[in-house]
Amino acid sequence: MRIKLAKNIGFCFGVKRALSLTLKALKENPGKTIYTLGPLIHNPPVVRDLQKRGVKVITSAAYAGRGIFVIPSHGLAPAVVGAARKRGAKILDATCPYVLRSQKIASGLAADNYHVIIVGEKFHPEIKGIIGRIGRAGTVVNRAADLRRSLPYRKKIGVIAQTTESLSRFRDIVAVLLGKSSELKVCNTLCVHTLDRQKEAVDLAGKVCAMIVVGGRNSANTRRLFELCRKKVPAFHIESAGELGRGTRVLSALRKVLKRGDRGCGPHQRSGVGVVSGTSTPDVSIRELVEKIRDPRCRRQHCEGCA
Ligand code: SF4
Repeated sequence: MRIKLAKNIGFCFGVKRALSLTLKALKENPGKTIYTLGPLIHNPPVVRDLQKRGVKVITSAAYAGRGIFVIPSHGLAPAVVGAARKRGAKILDATCPYVLRSQKIASGLAADNYHVIIVGEKFHPEIKGIIGRIGRAGTVVNRAADLRRSLPYRKKIGVIAQTTESLSRFRDIVAVLLGKSSELKVCNTLCVHTLDRQKEAVDLAGKVCAMIVVGGRNSANTRRLFELCRKKVPAFHIESAGELGRGTRVLSALRKVLKRGDRGCGPHQRSGVGVVSGTSTPDVSIRELVEKIRDPRCRRQHCEGCA
């Protein structure tokens, strides 16, 4: 298979930072339990590896003990952190600086009496962390259509977005909000690293016959990449290279698409398969995938993507 690899792949800076702080804490505190509320990052294979090294994933801060409680890159609500502190845990804050910025902007808007619209997924931990700071001063919105029906006219509205939200959805919702308020303050809290990946994924999807998106199914930014790619070409979302093993459903579907591609698929003579990854996907997962699907005649040591 001809592979075209995206340039921006592997962990983003916020995920790298959260992982290295956690690994450092494990090393420097032998005998102490490291707790994370839910997965530290949205990538099951990486989380399984952390668990093997001694990280304990808990479902409520009430289960934290006298160890170290890690705030993940997507942040947590203050009440949750407070509950872990009450249980005697030491807090290790690995919140990504971009998420911290969103939290501060949301709190500032609420303090200035703006009603804060947060464009994103209601049950995503990042959004819960923001709502946990501003309570009833905030409303989470996922689709412009919901907003048209449900939001009453307000004098002052501030709008922010989940860091991994797509630019187009943010723009659509801002457009609707213009008709809902006399004073609208738009704060762009989209993460530049996710925007770069989204742009690259869309560009790449325009040149290939199929796209493979590698990342956790619970990863919001990976799902976003998948949504964007499949609007352009057949796309496959996988968590690890194992899902493309011999005889798997995904592999046979991919082969079918590429067979058509051998004859030049689509009006612009696209070719090959594009590979992009979410921000919590390790480089090793991409390498394994490339090894699995690349043309066996290719002699390159490290795949840079076929021209
Ligand atoms: S995607 Fe952006 S906001 Fe999220 S952890 Fe990575 S750098 Fe931070």
